Amino acid sequence: MLHQELREIFDDLLEHFGPQHWWPGETPLEVVVGAILTQNVAWNNVEKAINNLQGKDLLSVAGLVQVPREELAELIIPTRYYNQKATRLKGFMIMVEEEFSGEMDKLLALETDELRRLLLKSKGIGKETADSILLYAADRPVFVVDAYTRRIFSRLGYVEEKVSYDEMQALFTNHLPADTDLFNEYHALIVALGKDICRARNPLCSDCPLNHRCSYRIAEDGKQPEDNGRDNTEYYENAEDTK
Ligand code: SF4
Repeated sequence: MLHQELREIFDDLLEHFGPQHWWPGETPLEVVVGAILTQNVAWNNVEKAINNLQGKDLLSVAGLVQVPREELAELIIPTRYYNQKATRLKGFMIMVEEEFSGEMDKLLALETDELRRLLLKSKGIGKETADSILLYAADRPVFVVDAYTRRIFSRLGYVEEKVSYDEMQALFTNHLPADTDLFNEYHALIVALGKDICRARNPLCSDCPLNHRCSYRIAEDGKQPEDNGRDNTEYYENAEDTK
């Protein structure tokens, strides 16, 4: 049942927004750089930083290892927290240089669990960033969870607002086939809805393709949310919370 509902939500979003063509990076290396730089900042700021790096011919493992940290920080100023991000980006590329002969493809060829463990060991890379790299740079069927996912699916009545990353992820991975293309498009569509319609304040429910199934919308209309009969224990029990 959950499988069918999640597919219907996907279909409604796809029909409304169309294919999102993610990730907007040209190469796996650019996707990795973008995933690290996009933390807490909008993507257009990341694009400015990536353009700055390209302009200086630094968008390579060797380039990012060799560039002085201060110069790197200046080039990525548009992404905020640029000193911290410069240290993290450089540290990550040094690891690729030392452990994978500077070849990003070798790193990304690791088996999925091993790659995820290694990414999470890198300073400043959390689950969302690691899973973004797995899905969008390494083409692995890993569902990416972000703040939009939690907001939308708690409003839809599937999870608590404070749901953990692993519990939220398990909702999708336990009830959808492990399909890279599906997970890629699903996350991108969630971002499209969360960014412009299901906003934190004053969501535009009348424009939302999911409003016919949304508990929050029903509550906002002054009615009691319908009992949709969902039993959420199924995926909570299967969740592995490694936080
Ligand atoms: S109906 Fe409103 S609250 Fe519900 S998912 Fe859509 S925008 Fe968000």
